[in-house]
This record gives sequence, structure tokens and C-alpha cells, in this order.
Amino acid sequence: MAEHSPHSPPAHSDALVIFGISGDLAFKKIFPALYAMVKNGALSVPVIGVAASDWTREQLHQQARKSLQEETGMDDPAVCERLLALLFYVHGDYRAAETFSAIKAALKNAQRPAYYLAIPPSLFTVVIQGLQSAGLTEQARIIVEKPFGRDLASAQELSRIAQSAFAENAIFRIDHYLGKEALMNLLYFRFANSFFEPLWNRDNIASVEITLAESFGIEERGAFYETAGCLRDVVENHMLQIVALLAMEPPAFQGFKAVQQAKANVFYAMRALVPGDLVRGQYIGYRNEPHVASDSDVETFCALRLWIDSWRWHGVPWFLRSGKKLANTAAEVRVHLKPPPQRLFDDADAHRTQANYVRFRLSPDPAIALATRVKCAGESFVGQQRELYLSEISLGHDLPYERLLGDAMEGDATLFSNQEAVEAAWAVVNPVLTDHAPALPYPPGSWGPPEADALIAACGGWHNPEAPAPAPAPAPPPPRATP
Ligand code: NDP
Repeated sequence: MAEHSPHSPPAHSDALVIFGISGDLAFKKIFPALYAMVKNGALSVPVIGVAASDWTREQLHQQARKSLQEETGMDDPAVCERLLALLFYVHGDYRAAETFSAIKAALKNAQRPAYYLAIPPSLFTVVIQGLQSAGLTEQARIIVEKPFGRDLASAQELSRIAQSAFAENAIFRIDHYLGKEALMNLLYFRFANSFFEPLWNRDNIASVEITLAESFGIEERGAFYETAGCLRDVVENHMLQIVALLAMEPPAFQGFKAVQQAKANVFYAMRALVPGDLVRGQYIGYRNEPHVASDSDVETFCALRLWIDSWRWHGVPWFLRSGKKLANTAAEVRVHLKPPPQRLFDDADAHRTQANYVRFRLSPDPAIALATRVKCAGESFVGQQRELYLSEISLGHDLPYERLLGDAMEGDATLFSNQEAVEAAWAVVNPVLTDHAPALPYPPGSWGPPEADALIAACGGWHNPEAPAPAPAPAPPPPRATP
């Protein structure tokens, strides 16, 4: 959805500079994305990695090879070699001017670099100012990892600093969730199917429920998680982005500006959260994780109720739930439709509790299901709820960073958030970042603290996404031919 105007930055970035190339994110996601981009012909410009480690270029190449072997299986060594030929290294402290002089030298004749900040948020400002002081920001783009701020005030301050060095249309705020095919399909499915639009409003929809569940804990990231928590790490970004895709008005025209504006308008219409809308939880054992305070009140689970005060959504509650060490790893949306207004059939009571719904399974195994009632064979007018199930959705491979880095280097911001949307989303969660009840304990492997059930009880309770179907057992080896 690229769009062109006389004010757009030049078409394609001619170098990619990755701050944080020795970090965890680079190892797990960025090297695999670069590999895929080279393989698809989407990357042929120099890539300059920057980090504090005193590595040689060869050591960076070893790190890239290791990442590709462990994370992708590296099916094509020739592609790996093509990537390594593009990959250079600059080491230095981001606080030192010499680091930026070395980056300038490494950029050689590049005129339109893209800088990717895959670094701890506390360093975003330091790097932006370093680039600016070295005169490296003109015609450049900047790609900023989440979280963009840790509350409304810090998001505004970060925008102010970023915009003092880069034009707003050259700032790409990454939420890798938006690069997932299943999320792009929410936008497509809603607006490529005309039968949805007349249904998609407060007249027909009773409530919307979204669950993003992980069965694993914080793993080795205790120090990071202590500064974040579920509200900042998942709700403010991934979950509100899902809400925006489901709730937005049709974009007024083709192009990323219309999509970004339509999403920002959803956040503007959202009521700011109050403590009574939120249940925070913490899995039992979290306080024993490395780098976690023994009296930590950081939440590893959130359940909340949202309201969107727009013409379309007035009176429809949105229930959001996310957490770590829950019973399954799955992300799912359920849009519950209202039951028929008339009690025509013998099973009319069941229509209240088992009304139609649309289910978007986002991960794993993405799917879309429409739940409808059909009559059972027999004399009485009694039916059952069955799902029309689109399971073979051709979503292909899911490498969000490949898509997002490629889009940013092309200047297509459809899958990124603009300043308005980021700040409006923070304004929704800001009141409860500090004003909230203590986190309630829940056992690992459960669906969170029981108090979360009370939030949604009047709308039929939570629907727990099913675990993915087990992978089929490998076929037994063929019998050996007897000589
Ligand atoms: P890490 O702590 O693993 O990596 C930090 C990187 O920054 C390293 O390359 C480190 O270099 C470099 N660095 C830190 N301080 C300096 C400094 N003063 N000067 C020069 N280099 C420095 O972070 P992650 O990779 O985990 O995360 C990076 C960003 O990505 C964060 O914003 C995070 O929120 C985001 N993110 C991370 C995810 C993940 O799964 N890890 C998922 C989604 C987002 P060196 O190692 O050489 O010291």
C-alpha cells in the first residue's frame, strides 16, 4: 500500500544500519529476516551492524551463521554467503561520537540509509542524537523497535526527539505483530468481503473477546520484564493493534495514511481504562525468576474490559486477556453476535448462550470460523452450533521482520504506527499503568486468576483457545527388503 507524494522520502534505502546486531533480537529474528530478504531478492544493499562487542567482521559473520543454523536450518548456503558479503561491522559505544564517525565511514557513498534501533529503549534517544550530531539523518529513515515509550509522557518525548532529527514519514515504529499474515488477513477479510460490513456494528455484535496466551514464562528476560509487565509489553501494542484492525472504519482511500488514520481514530474513541476495568495477575514462581525482585508486583497476566465510544461500537464491550504460563500458547479473537430477537424454536434458550460468532485464530495454525446453528434431524426444532471452518488459509511462511524491514526500506508505512496512533493508544492505558490493584497470584498452567472471570461473566465467560493439534507422528521407516 505504498503511496507517493512530492513530499515522500526517496524510494528505496540504499544501506541498512542495525544498532544492536549482537543482541538477542538480532540473533533470533533479524539474521533470519535478512537471509530471507536476500533469498527473495529484497536485499542487495550494504548492511552495517553496530554493537559494543569488540568483534571483527569475521566474528559477526560467525554469529550470523550460527543464528541461521539454529533459527532457520539455513537451507541454502549460497544465500548465506551472499548475505555475508553485504554484512559489515562497526563496534563502539553509542554514547561516543567516534562510533558515529565510524558508521559514516562505513556508509561510504550511501545517501539514504535506514537505521534500525534493535536496542534497549533507554538508548533510543542516545542513538538518535548521535546520528543527528554526526549529520547522518538527512534523507535517512529510522526504524524503532517497540516499546515506543513506557507511558504517554515518554512516548511524546521520544516522538519529539525523533521528529527533531527525522521527518514523521521517515520514522517507522515496529510492532512485529503487525507483520504477521494472520493480522494482515483481519484487514483483508473485513474489507474484501462485502457481507461483513452490514453485520459489523453494535446492532449485531454483542461483545468481542481477544486472548493472547503463552504457556511459557519470561524465560531469561527477567531484567527486561521487570521494567515492562504485560500491560506495556503486550496490551498497549499488540492487543490494541488487533482491536484497531477489528474496529476501524473502512480506510477512506487506498494507501497507508488512510489505514494509519483509521486505526488512530479507533484509539481516540476508546475510553481510557479505569482500575475497575482491569485484573492483573502474576504467575506463582515469577518472583523466583532470575533478576526479578522478591516482592515484585509486575503483572504477567492482564484481563481487561474496553469500550469504544463511536457510532459503530457504542455499548459493545471488548474483553482482552493475555498472560504468560497460561494453559496454552494460542492467540484468538471471537466476535460474538447477538442472538435472534424472537424465540421461535424449542431450543431458544440455547440461542442466548450459543449465539453465532466469528472466530479468528491468529496463531498457531491460523484459521477463520463462522459459528452457525443448524437443525438436528428429528421432529422437534432443536439444533446445534457448528463452525464453518476455513482452516487451509494460505498464509505461507510467517517472518514478520522480513516483511517489516523490507516495507520500511521501501517507505511503505501501512504496517507501522504513526505518532498519533502510538500516543492515542498510550492515552488509553496510561491511567492504569500506576493506578491499579495488586497483581493476583495464579498457578502456572491455569487461565489466570479467577477474578478475571468476573469481568466477562455477564457476557458468557471466557472461551479458552484450544491447544494446537499435535503434529502427526512421523511415518514409520519402510520395512527393509529381505535379501
Ligand atoms: P539485547 O540486550 O539482547 O541487545 C542489546 C544490544 O545493544 C546489543 O547488541 C548490545 O551490544 C547493544 N548495546 C547495548 N548498550 C550499548 C552501548 N552503550 N553501546 C553500544 N551497543 C550497546 O536486547 P534485545 O535484542 O533483546 O532487544 C533489543 C530491542 O528489541 C529492545 O527494544 C526490545 O524491547 C526489542 N524486542 C526484543 C525482543 C526479543 O525477543 N529479544 C522481541 C521484541 C522486541 P553488546 O552485546 O555488544 O554489548
